[in-house]
Amino acid sequence: MSEWETVIGLEVHVELATNTKLFSHAPNRFGDEPNTNVTPVCLGLPGSLPVLNRRAVELAMTIGIALGCEIQPSVFHRKNYFYPDMPKDYQVSQYDQPICINGSLDLPNGTRIGIERAHLEEDAGKTTHLGGEDGRIHGASEALVDYNRAGVPLLEVVSRPDIRSAEDARAYVEELRAILVATGASEARLEEGSMRVDANVSVRPVGSEELRTRCEIKNLNSLRSLQRAIKYEADRHIAMYEGEEAPRQETRHWSEEGKTHTLRSKEEANDYRYFPEPDLVLLDPDSDWIQRISAGMPELPADQRARLLSVAEINMETAATVVNRGLSPLVFAAIAAGADPERAITHAVQNLAIDGASGLDANHFAELIQMEQSGALTATQTKQVLTEMVDSGVDPSSIAETHGFEAMDSDELEILVDRAISENPEAWTKFCDGEDKVQGVIVGAVMKATKGQADGKAINSILQQRRG
Ligand code: MN
Repeated sequence: MSEWETVIGLEVHVELATNTKLFSHAPNRFGDEPNTNVTPVCLGLPGSLPVLNRRAVELAMTIGIALGCEIQPSVFHRKNYFYPDMPKDYQVSQYDQPICINGSLDLPNGTRIGIERAHLEEDAGKTTHLGGEDGRIHGASEALVDYNRAGVPLLEVVSRPDIRSAEDARAYVEELRAILVATGASEARLEEGSMRVDANVSVRPVGSEELRTRCEIKNLNSLRSLQRAIKYEADRHIAMYEGEEAPRQETRHWSEEGKTHTLRSKEEANDYRYFPEPDLVLLDPDSDWIQRISAGMPELPADQRARLLSVAEINMETAATVVNRGLSPLVFAAIAAGADPERAITHAVQNLAIDGASGLDANHFAELIQMEQSGALTATQTKQVLTEMVDSGVDPSSIAETHGFEAMDSDELEILVDRAISENPEAWTKFCDGEDKVQGVIVGAVMKATKGQADGKAINSILQQRRG
């Protein structure tokens, strides 16, 4: 038995965050009433003509430049296939002259993954099957089609087969997602389908450079599915080779019971009868335009992580969490407004996993951290105020005032602690004898007396002082 190495290439479809579709003025919006965001262009009605969306081109170039790609003159092609969610019976895509080529993406662990190309194309509509199991076509009695998504701009980012583990595949998707969030080019939500990942998986003996037969796995709508599916598929190939069999090139579907199964044999490019789209001209961005996009590039995730590591005593994982949630601009702005870097980062990691937290006012956030550090708010109160700030946009002092969160005077706290000691003489004796865990009895009594508003840390330090 030989040692095997997994070879992975990823194709990621990214919905671009434009207001309108790639070739029509229909809104590009998720979640609207079905078939309301549709024009004759989206349906390919006779006589309708596509007009290319400038913003989609800019976002495609933004992503390409962020990935170190060359931006080249590109051509739109018709990719012909029949499917009910594709009303024109062809998809306008880019074929042998994509807009972005030859880039790379560096994983946080230092591994560099080549990017072969990134091309612009339109999305298909969405078909929903009713009556079958799990929304599958098999056993379904009805198929409903929604064309709101037909014509939504996509950038398909194709990596080279440079990825060698399921963990690195996950890291690649996370890093690409962080780049999309940082540049604002896409909402990049796997669970909503605005970022969709297909994995090409094969295996080969360690030390070999050959590329063996690959299978493409679809329906990977979470990072967890991506990792599980790659591991499953690699094991399947290894088992076949070791049993003197060979996998066939095919497209496979990942199902959550933990298996991949055949969807169809893999199409070849010539199955699609590609030909240049006659209604669109060459897309040839001039160097001024490319230069403007480059100049407007925001700070990318790798640089954001490096800057976080330079301002606070944190590890790489913490920095990555802040960046991947899109919270580093907030954290940097709060630090600039006087917040303690470590506190700001801790809150971003522990208490700001919530959607929409990036819209939090940085000055309010800094103010809250100062209130916490001055002792005006306890840790629990700070957390509660922060949650309400995210929901309401109101400043922290007003929220604290509404709840009657007031700084407890330290004299007052000492009196309450002394009272709790005298009311719990047994616990106090044990505590003085070194039984630290009975401390909770006295802390609890003080908390009860203050309806939870006292600062636990402050109580502990008074108790330590009293014990001497
Ligand atoms: Mn595609």
